[in-house]
Amino acid sequence: MSRTSVVIAIDGPAASGKSSTAAWVARELGFQHLDSGLLYRAETSRRLGIADLRSPEVTAAVSEVAQIPEVRAAVNAELRRIAETENVVVDGRDIGSFVFPDAQLKIFLVADPWERARRRLHQRLGRPAADDEIAQETRLLVERDASDATNTLQARDAVLIDTTYLTQEEQVQRIVALAQKV
Ligand code: C5P
Repeated sequence: MSRTSVVIAIDGPAASGKSSTAAWVARELGFQHLDSGLLYRAETSRRLGIADLRSPEVTAAVSEVAQIPEVRAAVNAELRRIAETENVVVDGRDIGSFVFPDAQLKIFLVADPWERARRRLHQRLGRPAADDEIAQETRLLVERDASDATNTLQARDAVLIDTTYLTQEEQVQRIVALAQKV
């Protein structure tokens, strides 16, 4: 491949902190951040006629839209087009395994489902969530993990980072340190 730019791929399941981590890493390195999930959400909201990309309706329908081969091809073409000329941090499910198998650095983020649900709710509600709220959100996350399973693939050469007991700053610094070695 003739690409001269740098690609950092950050993959992982729903609410594993990919997007916020990728945005922060991109800022630190002066790279562009590409959120592939947001492109799938944009296509889903266009089809549903709903404007809020993070609404529960879009979230409930996005896995199915993301299974459509033409939709995946269009999203992947857009990501590859931008990466031809820009250094990028791309987050998603299949970025290191499929979209950019030649990425210079591949990260796969995982975290305990309960912890993912707790963080997601805290961010959404702006307050600590109660246990029954976290239990309900954990169920939704685990369901989405199952619907996304076919398109979630950890690349063999990805660095696995379990963020359950890490702060966001710690995970960002780990990735930035790895990026500085590529
Ligand atoms: O990352 P986020 O939760 O915003 O992604 C929304 C949805 O987009 C995922 O649940 C998944 O169905 C789909 N997706 C995908 N492949 C990617 C990124 C996201 O199928 N690379």
